[in-house]
Amino acid sequence: MRWTRSLIPTLKEEPAEAEAVSHKLMVRAGLVRQLAAGIYITLPLGQRVMDKISAIIREEMNRIGGQEITMPVLHPAELWQQTGRWTTIGEEMFRLHDRGKRQMCLGMTHEEVIAWLAAREIHSYRDLPQIWYQIQTKLRDEARPKSGVLRTREFVMKDSYSLDRDEAGLEQSYERHKEAYCNIFARCGLTFHVVESDPGMMGGAVAHEFMAPSEAGEDEIALCDRCSYSANVELAVSRPRRPVFPNWGLEEVATPGAGTIEEVCRFLQIDPALTIKSLLLVTKNGPLLALLRGDQQLHEKKLMKVTGETRPAHRDEILTHLGAGPGSIGPVGVALPIIADESLREGRYVAGANKDGFHLRGVGPGIHFQPRWADIRQVSNGDQCAHCEGSLRIERVIEVGNIFRLGIKYSVPMKAVYLNEAGEEYPIVMGSYGIGVARIAAAAVEQHHDDQGIVWPAALAPFQLHLLPVNMRDQKTAELAEALYVQLQQEGIETLYDDRDERAGVKFKDADLLGLPLRMTVGTRAVREGMVDLTIRKTGEELQAPLSEAVSKAKSLLSRLTN
Ligand code: ATP
Ligand code: MG
Repeated sequence: MRWTRSLIPTLKEEPAEAEAVSHKLMVRAGLVRQLAAGIYITLPLGQRVMDKISAIIREEMNRIGGQEITMPVLHPAELWQQTGRWTTIGEEMFRLHDRGKRQMCLGMTHEEVIAWLAAREIHSYRDLPQIWYQIQTKLRDEARPKSGVLRTREFVMKDSYSLDRDEAGLEQSYERHKEAYCNIFARCGLTFHVVESDPGMMGGAVAHEFMAPSEAGEDEIALCDRCSYSANVELAVSRPRRPVFPNWGLEEVATPGAGTIEEVCRFLQIDPALTIKSLLLVTKNGPLLALLRGDQQLHEKKLMKVTGETRPAHRDEILTHLGAGPGSIGPVGVALPIIADESLREGRYVAGANKDGFHLRGVGPGIHFQPRWADIRQVSNGDQCAHCEGSLRIERVIEVGNIFRLGIKYSVPMKAVYLNEAGEEYPIVMGSYGIGVARIAAAAVEQHHDDQGIVWPAALAPFQLHLLPVNMRDQKTAELAEALYVQLQQEGIETLYDDRDERAGVKFKDADLLGLPLRMTVGTRAVREGMVDLTIRKTGEELQAPLSEAVSKAKSLLSRLTN
């Protein structure tokens, strides 16, 4: 493609408010433009990247027997009412009315439509198993669209759905998807981890997420350095370090001016792991006390699974319910419901006495108060693995894909059933599997860039070769470049030909920003000595080739870079 005939609006300046590297680079390299909050236009180079990713996804999905379909974006409300998600999903769903005042919504996922279709088209056990997939637009009114195309309100997802006779069938479909996903992400050049995840609103047993390590990610995972344990921190478990418990009896101790865990520990000269951190929270059913070990942090999502939505209590609520300021509250003698983290099951601790300026020493959970036990703490770096002697490492990641076992959660309400060999009716057992196409592109940019710009993995690069004549005003240079462009195209090498009459410095900067795997430079040496330069973007390695061999040399370098 000729640059002068293309829309490649590169920018020197970073977009205002962009934080993620991928956001900055994808805008600067002219891949995307923001139309409104969380709504993007994909420009020609960006489109080529999306098409490459989609092609890889299609190949791998077809390989496991997936059949491509296209489902509508516009859905009648009845489908979502039938499964109950019309009410359980809140403001994330775009809802509207048609001219006949019928309620509709824009599809944020397609389990309902798939189950509707299966209910009509699948009749007997002979029709199963099936895998149906689409690469289609999803709409979600995300609370915080940000980070460029990593989280948008309109985005393209590959979503697939497996239909099986039974759990054993689902297990096979699930494993096939897991393999296909590993192939897809590996072919896209991503470093990734497969981790256990919380099935959330999808329901069903433990699910898996495919996580690409990056600072720009919104998720964190815990990885064991010894065994294969890896999980989203939303459900990761660990064994916290065990402190040395002194032989304390229950007594009140004065702690004047000490309110935070740190201050109390300094005053009493003790390890924070010997204290109880008490948090008064308010749920829709009233206040409750959540307890953690002093050296641990609350994981709000884990707590939410136990209690529903909560908010921290205000100062006056703390005084009313516990009779002391936030620095001196504790669980002993309290009439409120108490949820204690599992790490407090054993030992004696220092906790607030519900009396300003005082703490209790020697508090025994389960002895001096009766809590409900739950895992509500955040796993932290260096915790011991719950399954072996290894230690856990926390990594920030981008979720690029996930897989869920849905079971019969959607087929039952949608009456998606089949008849078995004996003519008995059974609900179809379903699975659901998603991948974000633009999110893969952004994750690839996050993982592959340098100070100058993007360094595309060859499989995703919008073009393979950047043909760069240094001076288009020099007639000989221009002629050589034109001839090379023709040859490169004949050889089937995807070439971006920078035929602009621009300063060399501008062209080189743009080439680095765009990050195509190989650059072919036609400079003065080409004119004088018949030599062109080939530069590998990733390593900066430079090679020379005579004009007559330039194209074949480029071809062999590219095949090395692709494999
Ligand atoms: P997240 O936790 O990031 O919101 P999700 O759990 O809602 O993702 P799914 O609904 O299962 O994700 O969607 C499948 C895939 O679609 C995700 O793994 C991700 O790659 C992509 N995806 C989800 N939401 C967005 C979004 N708002 N913008 C871009 N891609 C998205
Ligand atoms: Mg989401």
